[in-house]
Amino acid sequence: MSDISIKLSKELEKKLQVAKKRVAKFNKEHPRNTLDEENLEAAMQSMDITKDEVNRWVSMVTADMQLHPKFEEVVAKGVKSLNKIPIIWLELADCSGNSEAFIKSANPAIEDLIFEYISLDYHELLMSASGDESESLLDDIIKNQKGEYILIVEGAVPLGLDGKYLRIGSKGETGIELLKRCAKDAALVIAVGSCAFDGGVVAAAPNPTGAVGVAEALKRDDVINISGCPTNPVNIVGTLLYYMMFEEMPPLDKFNRPLWAYEGRVHDNCERRGHYELGEFVEEWGDEGAKKGWCLFKMGCKGPYAHVNCPTMKFNQGTSWPVQAGHGCMGCTERGFFDKFANERIYEGEENEKDSH
Ligand code: SF4
Repeated sequence: MSDISIKLSKELEKKLQVAKKRVAKFNKEHPRNTLDEENLEAAMQSMDITKDEVNRWVSMVTADMQLHPKFEEVVAKGVKSLNKIPIIWLELADCSGNSEAFIKSANPAIEDLIFEYISLDYHELLMSASGDESESLLDDIIKNQKGEYILIVEGAVPLGLDGKYLRIGSKGETGIELLKRCAKDAALVIAVGSCAFDGGVVAAAPNPTGAVGVAEALKRDDVINISGCPTNPVNIVGTLLYYMMFEEMPPLDKFNRPLWAYEGRVHDNCERRGHYELGEFVEEWGDEGAKKGWCLFKMGCKGPYAHVNCPTMKFNQGTSWPVQAGHGCMGCTERGFFDKFANERIYEGEENEKDSH
């Protein structure tokens, strides 16, 4: 064995030990949730999700996070410990699409189940508490779990009229006030979806409410962005797992998106790419090319400009993704996608535009 391979293997082993200790420590320090591993397994059985499916899912997430297969065991343990993380999920100016992507009730996927298992402490859309009860719940988490909870934010932050375009709760707190209050003592802030990333559709021209993304609203450069409209639930679970295992942010691109999910270009991993190279394009909806699954570039596909793992990760447990379903990519993970991509059939930018990294 060469010196290099010995060195790599020692580094890998060290990283693995760090992750194992961190998951064990996390479990010990945060025994707050009464749901346990058995609950998760029982729920999986009741939903006809077999152990083999779970193992395949763990292998897929481990590979997607660009971790060595040796990490599969600790990733599996991490998944079962996700219910120990105190989480506040805020809904600001949005359509709830990212929450909806998780909670669809038909054909539940493993990530849906995990999301339920996480038992969000505060989620305006999902929790049973309402009114004053929900507000005191939020106050309690902020006060008693200072520095421990993770803040996930979905939706844009309207800043126009001093934030008055968005008021939440009986006290009429503005979105930006609520966001600042929750973010102040959070261990980590994660912005999910395109609206939380850079304002998304809500900030489309002429942006009447002055909407911006979470990082810009907070004026912080340590917010993790998981862009997409909606984002893939697997990428949220993977980011939470990474934080749990390593107590640090995953490697990020220049827009603070996890590299393991946003490094690849849609166009480079698309199953229709061969047709692109051969000049075989769909020219009109329903034509012969459409029936044969040819490239959608001339129908407005923005895959050449978009960076995300949709073609490999897909949605609903790997069932499909927009291009496979016959609709071009809208580039929804990119900055200003709605104004830049959604209205033009052919984007005039460079095909190999590398503005994401
Ligand atoms: Fe796939 Fe779109 Fe690229 Fe065609 S242009 S190969 S459909 S990503």
